Amino acid sequence: MLIVQKFGGSSVANAERIFNVAQRIAETYKEGNDVVVVLSAQGDTTDDLITKAKEISKKPSKREMDMLLSTGEQQSVALMAMALAELGYPATSLNAYQVGMMTTSTYMNARLKKIKPDRIRRELDRKNIVLVTGFQGMNRFDDITTLGRGGSDTTAVAIAAALHADKCEIYTDVDGVYTADPRVVKDAKKIEEITYDEMLELASLGAKVLHNRSVELAKKYNVELVVRSSLTRAEGTVVKEVCKMERMLISGVAGDDEIARVSLIGIEDTPGKAFDIFTTLAKKNINVDIILQSIGRDGTKDISFTVADTALTDVKEIVATHMDRWGLKDVDYNENLAKVSVVGAGMVANAGVASKMFEAMYDTNINIHMISTSEIKISILIDKKDMHKAMNAIHDAFQLVD
Ligand code: ADP
Ligand code: ASP
Ligand code: MG
Repeated sequence: MLIVQKFGGSSVANAERIFNVAQRIAETYKEGNDVVVVLSAQGDTTDDLITKAKEISKKPSKREMDMLLSTGEQQSVALMAMALAELGYPATSLNAYQVGMMTTSTYMNARLKKIKPDRIRRELDRKNIVLVTGFQGMNRFDDITTLGRGGSDTTAVAIAAALHADKCEIYTDVDGVYTADPRVVKDAKKIEEITYDEMLELASLGAKVLHNRSVELAKKYNVELVVRSSLTRAEGTVVKEVCKMERMLISGVAGDDEIARVSLIGIEDTPGKAFDIFTTLAKKNINVDIILQSIGRDGTKDISFTVADTALTDVKEIVATHMDRWGLKDVDYNENLAKVSVVGAGMVANAGVASKMFEAMYDTNINIHMISTSEIKISILIDKKDMHKAMNAIHDAFQLVD
C-alpha cells in the first residue's frame, strides 16, 4: 500500500516526540508499505518566526514572510530524516521546490495548483521513506509561498491525491474530530465518521483540527482521511463522502475568535454600491464572510461584514483609499468579536435549530450581533469574551453528549 501520513507541530515538538513519530513511521514502513510523510514546523516555531519578523518590521513584505516561515517545516523534515537514519531506516527529506509543489502567486495564502510527483516516486522506488515539508509551495515566479496557517494538512491531502495513495492519515494532538474543540468543551464527544461537507463547514468555521482547504481537496479527489493521535493508538475519525451511521441533527459546534467586523456607514443608497465595494475587496484577495446590510434611511445605508483579523490592516488601507468614491460618512472596526456556529447535515429541514441556539444565548445572557445561516450551519457573532461560554451552552442545548 501507499500511505501518506501527516504529523502536526506538537507531534514533532522536540527530540523525544520526533523519535516517537519516527517509530510510528518505521512501523508502517516495516509492514511493506510505501510511506510519504508530511511534517509541520516543530511546536510553536511558526508563531516564533512571526514574532521575530514583527520585531523587525510592523508590516513585513509577504514574500519575505514566506521565505522565513517556510524554514520551520524544512527543519522538521531534516531532523526526522536524521532520526529515521538513527533507527536504521532509509529516509530522504524534500522541500516544496524538490517536489514541484506549484501554487498560485498569493503569498501567505497560496492555493495549491499542481504537484509533479516524479521525484517522490523515484525515492519510493528506491525504497526510501519520503519526508515532505508541509505548508509551503512555489509560485510561477519561482518564489516560496505558504498555504495559510494550518496548511500542512492540505499538503498531505494534495500528495495523497496526486499519488493515488491508499490511505491519508492526519496525526495530531487529539485522537479525532470531536463535537466541539475538546479543550474548550469538556463534554465534547469523539465523532467516528463525518462527511466531507460537515467537516468542511466545521473546519471553515474555526475547528482547527483540519485546514479547510484540505477537506475541500479531499472531497474533490475523493481521498478518505483519518484524523488520529500521534501519541495514542485510538482509532480516530474517518472523513468521507457518505457516512453509514445514523446522523444526529447537529454534528458539531465551532468557534472562531480570529475575526474582525468592518462597518461602512452612510453609503449612498443607490444600485451598484455593494458591487463596487465587494469587487474591490475581492480583487485584493480579501475573503469576506458574514455580510449585513441595514435598511436604507434618508437615502443612505450601512453595510457590515466580517473578515479574518489578519486581513484587517489590508482592509483599513483599502477603505481609506476608496472612502470618497464609496461616499462613506464613517467607518467602524471591531476586533473584539467571535463567531460561534452549529453545523449539521440534519438541520436542513429543521426550523427548530436556530431558535434553540438563540435560546441558549438568551439563557446565558449573551448578546448576538449578527446572524448568518446556510443549509447545514448557523453562525452568530458575539463578543469575544463570551466565546467559550457560548460554545459550551450551545453544545449542552443540543445534547451532543450521550
Ligand atoms: P496540528 O499541529 O497537529 O496540525 P492543530 O493544533 O492544528 O494540530 O489542530 C489540533 C487542535 O484542534 C486540537 O488540539 C484541538 O484543540 C483543536 N480543535 C478545534 N476543534 C476541534 C474539534 N472539533 N475536534 C478536535 N479538535 C479540535
Ligand atoms: N506550521 C504551519 C502553521 O503553524 C503549518 C501547519 O502547522 O500546518 O500554521
Ligand atoms: Mg493543524
